[in-house]
Amino acid sequence: MEALLNKLSEQQELTEEEIVWFLGHLTPELRQQLYSRASKVRKQHYGVSVYSRGLIEFSSFCRRDCLYCGLRRSNSSAERYRLTEDEIIECAAEGYELGYRSFVLQSGEDIHYSEQVMTTIVRKLKLRFPDAAVTLSVGERSEAFYRALYNAGADRYLLRHETASCVLYDSLHPGMSYDHRMDCLRILREIGYQVGAGFMVGLPGQTQRHLAEDLLFLKEFQPEMIGIGPFIPHSSTPLKHAAGGTVEDTLVMIAMARLMVPDALMPATTAMGTLDPSGREKALQAGANVVMPILSPLQIRSKYALYEQKICMGDEPEHCRSCLEMRIAVTGYRMEFSRGDHCRFNVQL
Ligand code: SAM
Repeated sequence: MEALLNKLSEQQELTEEEIVWFLGHLTPELRQQLYSRASKVRKQHYGVSVYSRGLIEFSSFCRRDCLYCGLRRSNSSAERYRLTEDEIIECAAEGYELGYRSFVLQSGEDIHYSEQVMTTIVRKLKLRFPDAAVTLSVGERSEAFYRALYNAGADRYLLRHETASCVLYDSLHPGMSYDHRMDCLRILREIGYQVGAGFMVGLPGQTQRHLAEDLLFLKEFQPEMIGIGPFIPHSSTPLKHAAGGTVEDTLVMIAMARLMVPDALMPATTAMGTLDPSGREKALQAGANVVMPILSPLQIRSKYALYEQKICMGDEPEHCRSCLEMRIAVTGYRMEFSRGDHCRFNVQL
């Protein structure tokens, strides 16, 4: 086991068989060693900085029907909302005042926000906050859409691959195509975005071999950003009785991803904080280096319910900022308010 851990940290790779074997033989001591090696590698690339991104969840409408997600179109009990262009810009302005220089605009796959609507929003954001980075996370769109938004000034795009197993993907995403999602990721990369991929841990039917496939996909694709979080069942979805993912299993994936893609930007997700009050801190100590405080207006926040019991639902952005800053300081890291680009991207402002 020690030899595999050495290979992973020195050569940044393991074969599929080695990953499966490693996952099947982990002991509490080995987990700790894995986390501390991941932390060391993260420090070599990003020091003690934890980058912050103000998250604006601007629409809970979704045309997709992913079995795991509370926003799925078949969930008739979901409350839907859309923020206007002005409301989105207001959220960013509040975040900018608090010091954030990186914003993530995320939504269900809502085509109400057409290419024209989205380019207007991005242009206005870039005009008003020229020193801030804008990340989009609005799902699968056309190449023309992605290009137009990039030309309007969007810097980054998050599109988790969700699972690198085509069979598992198909079982969770009715009417969607694994190949199309992967094509979207390649197109985003080709256009020039800093691209984020990622997956959930603890999906029904997911095996250690599936997780090995996820890690190997990340190794091959080398995304600039990697989002890994536990799957949390939502009571109004077909997966309501599933067991869901655990914090420990997710930490192992975060640490292994850090060792395989050493320079990636990796968030300590809200889902980790939801399962465990110190889940985000644990993620930071296992290789994560980004936090994403929510800037959406308080009155609509609980309606962006991918899963239930989400944390920070009633916290004003100012409170979120100081709470996170303190949590991060306790782990020995420091919250950063710069654009927080990937180290390969030298963005000229
Ligand atoms: N619609 C966009 C897309 O498809 O990329 C972005 C929004 S989507 C709701 C954001 C992410 O939430 C998904 O990529 C998925 O990994 C995660 N997610 C959805 N349901 C979840 C659940 N029940 N537990 C944990 N994460 C979930």
